[in-house]
Amino acid sequence: MYEIAASALLKEVMNNYFQDLKTRSKPLAWCTSVGPAELLRSFGFDVYFPENHGALLGATRKAMDYIPVASKIGYPSDICSYLTSDIGSHIQKSTPLTKHYGLDAQPIPDLIVYNTNQCREVQDWFSYFANQYKCPILGIVPPRHMDEVKQADIDNVSSQFKSLIPECERVSGNKFDIDQFRETLRLSKEATLLWKKTLETSIQTPAPISFFDATIHMGPIVVLRGTETAKAYYKVLSDELELNVKNKVGFLPKETSRIYWEGMPIWGRLRFLSDLFAQHHSAVVASTYCNSWIFDDFDERTPFESSALAYTKIFINRSERAKLTILKDLINDFRITGVIFHEAKTCFNNSNSRFGMPAKLKEETGVETLIIEGDLCDLRFFSEEQSTIKIETLLEQISS
Ligand code: SF4
Repeated sequence: MYEIAASALLKEVMNNYFQDLKTRSKPLAWCTSVGPAELLRSFGFDVYFPENHGALLGATRKAMDYIPVASKIGYPSDICSYLTSDIGSHIQKSTPLTKHYGLDAQPIPDLIVYNTNQCREVQDWFSYFANQYKCPILGIVPPRHMDEVKQADIDNVSSQFKSLIPECERVSGNKFDIDQFRETLRLSKEATLLWKKTLETSIQTPAPISFFDATIHMGPIVVLRGTETAKAYYKVLSDELELNVKNKVGFLPKETSRIYWEGMPIWGRLRFLSDLFAQHHSAVVASTYCNSWIFDDFDERTPFESSALAYTKIFINRSERAKLTILKDLINDFRITGVIFHEAKTCFNNSNSRFGMPAKLKEETGVETLIIEGDLCDLRFFSEEQSTIKIETLLEQISS
């Protein structure tokens, strides 16, 4: 059975990250997953990401216990299930972080920072916790849904980044140090390029890492961007996968189709879906989701401007037209023969199937597309039976 040897190191890296949060040796900032993590780290903050907790709630299937708890206080179950399960978990005073990492609860923040580049929901979600913990909260509010990011947009977001500095200085007790910011950004860029290299190994056949495995191995690029640890981890992982490519070792012995996964993972059904595709020799080799943590525009010579550009031009913040172009390029690069659009019922922000994109993509590339309904955390929106029939029908049609 195919296994990625770096998985053991991944466990160690993630465990160490959470143990550091437990010891509270540094001030702690909460940050959105595509927020200004490098700037925060440059002040000496440890950084915690509530979305990572949301993914854990989804993967452990605890989310469904907590979503109704949040509904009772006015956060209905059809809005972001990261938000509802995370708030419900807080109210219930219960979290899988206890079982997995020995934390009694989510670590209490000294500062909360969000970026609405991904959605407005994060502002409401983080504001709930700012209120609960009586914690200062800051936000970046960039222009949204962009065809392209222009200089005026970069200037706008860059000045918003700079406006965070006085409060970061006050809460951390450290003066802003441009060289420290440059260094953190440099480390983040190096890690992000290694993550890109990791994902791009699956351009090859047989592909050495699937989308499902990549959702697990992306942990450090989300929570440890801007550290030596993340960089070192992705060096080990990408080296291993490159060797597998050289030795023609892939996660499937043979591939009869190559799939692109568009949208969020269905965290509580990763194993089920991975097995389903594997049974049909179908390699799910690329995704919008895992690619979202490639920030190759970071440039330590222009730390504010390049961070503003990188974080504003992310896929989720682009127009339908720009997204279509990006998808077409990836389909070409990864030699994709079918695209699955996951319509996540509680996240329209990261579901791109609702305005005709699957049909447009098929028309412009000739590649078959399929929409499956589900959710990132709330499995009540996902039917195994219906999804299996749809996926098997697609695979039958496209397999060579
Ligand atoms: S992008 Fe979607 S899943 Fe992520 S925080 Fe926003 S609404 Fe929730």
